[in-house]
Amino acid sequence: MAAYGGDASSAEARRRSKLSAGPHHRDRELAPLDKDRILSCLGTRWLGRDMRLFAQLASTNELAISLAQKGESGTVILAEVQTRGRGRLSRHWESPSGGIWMSLILRPDIPIALAYQINMAICVAVCRAISNLLGLNPGIKWPNDLLIGERKVGGILMEVQAEGERLEYAVVGVGINANIDPSAFPDDWMATSLSREGGSEVSRTALIQRTLLEIERAYENLGSMEIYDEWRRRSVTIGRMVRISANSGELVGEVEDLAEDGALLLRRDDELVRVLAGDCIHLRGMGGL
Ligand code: ADP
Repeated sequence: MAAYGGDASSAEARRRSKLSAGPHHRDRELAPLDKDRILSCLGTRWLGRDMRLFAQLASTNELAISLAQKGESGTVILAEVQTRGRGRLSRHWESPSGGIWMSLILRPDIPIALAYQINMAICVAVCRAISNLLGLNPGIKWPNDLLIGERKVGGILMEVQAEGERLEYAVVGVGINANIDPSAFPDDWMATSLSREGGSEVSRTALIQRTLLEIERAYENLGSMEIYDEWRRRSVTIGRMVRISANSGELVGEVEDLAEDGALLLRRDDELVRVLAGDCIHLRGMGGL
């Protein structure tokens, strides 16, 4: 099993201890999700037709992986709360009620080397759903964070299994801070939520329906220039000064572009360095100002 992404953050323990000392996440009771309501107006042909909704799970990706190992496909797992939600490299993903925490099981017939196309398509699809439904315009911070302004509103976590050169399955976790009070999170997470940005609660049911529809459409267009172009256009990392931490060490430079294979192209003096995976910290404002 390979998780796409970079290195664990050394500040994680400190962040978590601040979090557990923080105020309660919920500022009000929210209507719980209802599977029949979600399914009743779901426009997808196959994605999420098999849907499992839980009040609480350790991790939706974890359950999805065990179902994928049994051969399931197109299944969507949802949880109101995750107790051990994961970010990249097992980092903690805080998942209080009010958010959308879901994982999908996908089985595209592609070489494992093209798995980055799935992450690209899903990042684009989730942005489309949020902007079409709510009029908010999320950007993509390379490689897998969704931002509104400078703040993180969600993230994608893809975990893939190979069978030789082919991809056997991909489990994709989609986390969206929908109706959450982000002030309960540590300040250095730079988190926000849709309800904070839009000024009112969002319908999680409608957003799940729209997100699954956009994901199904994008998935059927996997590897297309249309998705790559939109992924690039929505990137808030291009043009930024960044610090990349990868297994091979740290790199600082300006991001010149994102390549078709998902790699970040980093300008360092006369050199253009291709970075395929790693942690990316935006150092200054747009355009390096
Ligand atoms: P990164 O954002 O550094 O690439 P991940 O994508 O793995 O890392 O996400 C995990 C990190 O995101 C955590 O270490 C924490 O800083 C932050 N985080 C955790 N839960 C949330 C959340 N619900 N909303 C925004 N940020 C979060």
